[in-house]
Amino acid sequence: MQPIIDRFISYVTIDTESDSKSNTTPSTSKQWDLANKLVAELKTIGMQEVTIDDKAYIMATLPSNVDHEVPTIGFISHFDTSPDFSGANVKPQIITNYDGQDIVLNAEKNIVLSPSYFKDLLQYKGQTLITTDGTTLLGADDKAGITEIVTAMEYLINHPEIKHGKIRIGFTPDEEIGRGAHHFDVAKFGAEWAYTMDGSQIGELEYENFNAAGATITFKGKSVHPGYAKGKMINSMLIANDFINALPKGETPQETKGYEGFFHVHHLTGGIEETVLELIIRDHSKKKFEKRKELIEKITRKLNKKYAKQFGEDIVIAEIDDQYYNMKEKVVPVKHIVDIAAKAMNDVAIKPIIKPIRGGTDGCQLSYMGLPCPNIFAGGHNFHGKYEYVPVESMEKAVEVIVKIAELTSQPNYGLPVSKKKK
Ligand SMILES: [Zn+2]
Repeated sequence: MQPIIDRFISYVTIDTESDSKSNTTPSTSKQWDLANKLVAELKTIGMQEVTIDDKAYIMATLPSNVDHEVPTIGFISHFDTSPDFSGANVKPQIITNYDGQDIVLNAEKNIVLSPSYFKDLLQYKGQTLITTDGTTLLGADDKAGITEIVTAMEYLINHPEIKHGKIRIGFTPDEEIGRGAHHFDVAKFGAEWAYTMDGSQIGELEYENFNAAGATITFKGKSVHPGYAKGKMINSMLIANDFINALPKGETPQETKGYEGFFHVHHLTGGIEETVLELIIRDHSKKKFEKRKELIEKITRKLNKKYAKQFGEDIVIAEIDDQYYNMKEKVVPVKHIVDIAAKAMNDVAIKPIIKPIRGGTDGCQLSYMGLPCPNIFAGGHNFHGKYEYVPVESMEKAVEVIVKIAELTSQPNYGLPVSKKKK
């Protein structure tokens, strides 16, 4: 257990917070600190074709050790941490044989990680937890994923009796600001499919996510002295209000779950002359997603028609931009890649938890770039904040899952029942 703890701690104590306001890649130069260390470590453990490009994307190869042809597969994670909470001076605390009680993260500041609020903690009774000291995030998202991939590769190198095909691994910067896949060279990676090790609790296996778009709606108005405004003033704020009221009731993030989509109004600024409304649109179903975008256009047309006589030009302008799509469309045609991961989990006594993601992953972008890429648990909880923690046993299980996937992929029918094999 100690080597995996040491490896994880050596990563999380290097600050790699990304920054969405930066235009460079990586967005913060400190991400190089960990990137360069990872390159050296991959070479030390015996990985081959270890490369880092000018944007800090790392790739490496574990060559096949079988004679027959096996598809090349990949494992991917990101080394930046979320700008939502400080990632500087992380001081991990190790709680051995967790007793199911409150964990005092910081006595001085009275910060407590309590199972009465974070009920998931109770399933890790008796295990070893790594937590923060209450002043930073931990960075298990996604340095747990990196720890697991490196440890699994080292294990396979040291156990040549385990048969596997060619494995590619990829570590990216800037996932937390939505850019992890942007400069990922899928052709250079050269895998038939891959897995991001970037999920949360043990057992998670995800291959469905939202289709996503963002809309900026601009409302124009006409300011006139209120005493003389009758029939002349157009108050853009009130038109924005009409727009919001025309959105379907009950379809907001706080009123939906599972496969239910939503409109989420997240920004509104304005005065009489101009109001700008920003919202996001989310739906797992491509059809419903398109319908939602059409509704935005429809409401826009209706309001423009209503004010056409008075204003003489369109007073509502809607700009809609697609952000990402549901990877399901790209993964279902190669569903065996999910089945292999589920079988690998079952083989190492983990019950797969397969559920739709109410968000996106780098894997969904990669899937549309030609690299189908489901997401597997990395083991951590409470990402992006001071209550983040990871059970060491979950990281060890993730290592076993990676090793098992590598092994299954080299077997006839990927070790799956014949009926499940898809071509
Ligand atoms: Zn992550």
